Amino acid sequence: MDTILVINAGSSSVKFQVFSIEGEGRLRRRIKGQIDGIGSRPRLRASGVNGDSMADRAYPIEAVPDVAAAMAIAGDWLRHELRIDPIAVGHRVVHGGPDYGKPVLIDHGVVARLERFIPLAPLHQPHNLSPIRSILAAFPALPQVACFDTAFHRTHSAVADHYAIPHQLHAEGVRRYGFHGLSYEYIAKSLPQIAPDIAQGRVIVAHLGSGASMCAMKSGQSVESTMGFTALDGLPMGTRPGQLDPGVVLYLMSEEGMSASKVQDFLYRECGLKGLSGVSNDMRELEASADGKAALAIDYFVHRICLNVGMLAAALQGLDAFVFTAGIGENSARIRARVSERLEWLGIALDAAENTRHSRLISRSGTLVPVYVVPTDEELMVAQHTLSLLMNRPSTNPRQERVP
Ligand code: ADP
Repeated sequence: MDTILVINAGSSSVKFQVFSIEGEGRLRRRIKGQIDGIGSRPRLRASGVNGDSMADRAYPIEAVPDVAAAMAIAGDWLRHELRIDPIAVGHRVVHGGPDYGKPVLIDHGVVARLERFIPLAPLHQPHNLSPIRSILAAFPALPQVACFDTAFHRTHSAVADHYAIPHQLHAEGVRRYGFHGLSYEYIAKSLPQIAPDIAQGRVIVAHLGSGASMCAMKSGQSVESTMGFTALDGLPMGTRPGQLDPGVVLYLMSEEGMSASKVQDFLYRECGLKGLSGVSNDMRELEASADGKAALAIDYFVHRICLNVGMLAAALQGLDAFVFTAGIGENSARIRARVSERLEWLGIALDAAENTRHSRLISRSGTLVPVYVVPTDEELMVAQHTLSLLMNRPSTNPRQERVP
């Protein structure tokens, strides 16, 4: 069985999925796993097609000190215990910088270019690159593909790509990139089947997970995003504040005496729903809490989504459909109802029963702007890109490059 391995490596976890290649280039998910708790309480967990557990093992902290060690354990498990020998590996890489508007086959030159973007995503890019480097060293003939969270937004116009700062900084790469691009691309590819009449129209997609952003799409292409230079901007998130006056950062440094790395840590880990509620970064816990500050955090989340919808609708000069996706967007009927109530002025009206059922179409029939719930699948997107780059390589037979 020919397979593709998809890797999504973060600072404390390595998530992986295995897809088999079926007839006509169709992909079928076979295994979903992760090693989390890297450097704290490492644990390998994996499940099969029906969610049945295939592995659940704890490791001593010193056995998995970093992402490279986690990758080695996951790789050994797949190769030696399951005899899975992928013909290619696809990686989710957060930053393609100004250079990459498409996925790319990896070689040493590409790795060197992607290393240049580490300052643009210091908390993500090094971890994304770590397994790429270790696989390149151990299996130099195995094709690897990098798929970028920024790539889908490279279609932005100059006004959407710039900040009002001197041009030199834009040339250096200080731009409004936008993130969650693999999720938006999956939605853009799914819409023609789900709603062919609006797929070519003006659509706002709300990716509401631990990280959250929204994308304005026209004819399936990104024209604006709530995120910018880093994944800190825009909507409030689990532990990130979203839009923040840069003066707050200056205040933290000058008045609170925080160093740049302290501020970075604070903004990525201590703010957002967690900071505002003082209860949790997890929407389920906030919804279950009786604490007034948890309610404030939810109110703020809804408020900022609705303000940003106004901004994106202005960018699109109207709205033909709205899509909810990711953990909160797919699962929280309450958040969807509260956001939709505040967007009635745009022509949105939910069908309460369909919303509670998490149906695909949750707006009332005949409303101006239909509202959809579409589960996202970033890993499938990575697997598809990997397969397609593999198949379109000049004069190579993927089977010949199999790992010995
Ligand atoms: P990520 O992939 O960025 O880690 P997810 O897309 O899995 O994040 O989303 C995680 C968020 O989704 C968490 O805030 C979690 O509480 C929320 N979530 C998941 N299920 C539900 C649910 N049934 N109700 C409300 N929120 C939910």
